[in-house]
Amino acid sequence: MDFAYSERTKALQAKVSRFMDENVYPAEERFFAEVQENRRKGNPWVPTRVIEDLKQKARAQELWNLFLPESEYGASLSNLEYAPLCEIMGRSPIGPEAFNCSAPDTGNMEVLVRYGSPEIRKRWLEPLLRGEIRSAFAMTEPAVASSDATNIQARIERQGGEYVISGRKWWTSGANDPRCKVLIFMGKTDPNNPDRHRQQSMIVVPMDRAGWGPAASTTACASSGWPSAHWRRCAAGRPSAWPSANPSPSRPSRWSASRTRASRSTRRAFWC
Ligand SMILES: Cc1cc2nc3c(=O)[nH]c(=O)nc-3n(C[C@H](O)[C@H](O)[C@H](O)COP(=O)(O)OP(=O)(O)OC[C@H]3O[C@@H](n4cnc5c(N)ncnc54)[C@H](O)[C@@H]3O)c2cc1C
Repeated sequence: MDFAYSERTKALQAKVSRFMDENVYPAEERFFAEVQENRRKGNPWVPTRVIEDLKQKARAQELWNLFLPESEYGASLSNLEYAPLCEIMGRSPIGPEAFNCSAPDTGNMEVLVRYGSPEIRKRWLEPLLRGEIRSAFAMTEPAVASSDATNIQARIERQGGEYVISGRKWWTSGANDPRCKVLIFMGKTDPNNPDRHRQQSMIVVPMDRAGWGPAASTTACASSGWPSAHWRRCAAGRPSAWPSANPSPSRPSRWSASRTRASRSTRRAFWC
């Protein structure tokens, strides 16, 4: 296999590197200062002006959505072309988001491009591609080894005209970001299927759906002051069922059983 960089990759490497030098690295101190200020005022999750400014500049220079392969919506780079750009963007903690190339939005957008209905694309994919909203992905569960998706225990059950979602999730990155408007949730829809790789499905859930609420939080980078911590969120029937905030990231609290419902009107639209 030929691993040499294409001319297109080389040109983009130079352009991304220049953008990092001229805009991203010099903004890091201001970013952390802004986060500290937001934290001092009581909410480190407030979107920062620094990142929003960087996003506008990157978009103006067409350094935007570089992650999306083979799609009318993005740069259509192959993994081989995109990987060296990731390497450059990832040199700063604020790099990927500046280019609208940060997880979990990248993976979620790709899923919505490939499998989302026209309604889903309009409602969530397009604003995600414009960098106006954010998304989350809820697979990992506290009770099972979640690196193997076949272990996932949450249930997505069809009951009449509704889908009922029951389960406990954690490490749902970015779920508490106020811009986060949509969640891709993994659960079992066919637990008795003899093929264990066909038991799971993913359902698109609007974040403002009744029954969802913030749970205890934890942080992946506790010492850095970084706000993009990894928060747990569970589907909860009522606020009193939610666990209290956990003071120690290394000792997660237990979650109560929980349920939420997707209505008939949302059901068709939210499957992807
Ligand atoms: C920074 C960060 C962000 C994250 N963001 C998200 C997110 O947005 N959404 C989300 O759903 N999750 C998220 N996660 C969770 C992450 O995807 C899971 O932690 C990961 O999938 C591993 O699952 P686990 O923690 O249950 O570990 P486990 O599956 O228990 O694995 C622990 C160890 O055991 C090994 N192991 C597991 N099963 C076996 C086996 N059968 N045989 C031998 N070895 C085994 C694994 O290789 C690993 O070394 C995030 C995690 C981090 C650290």
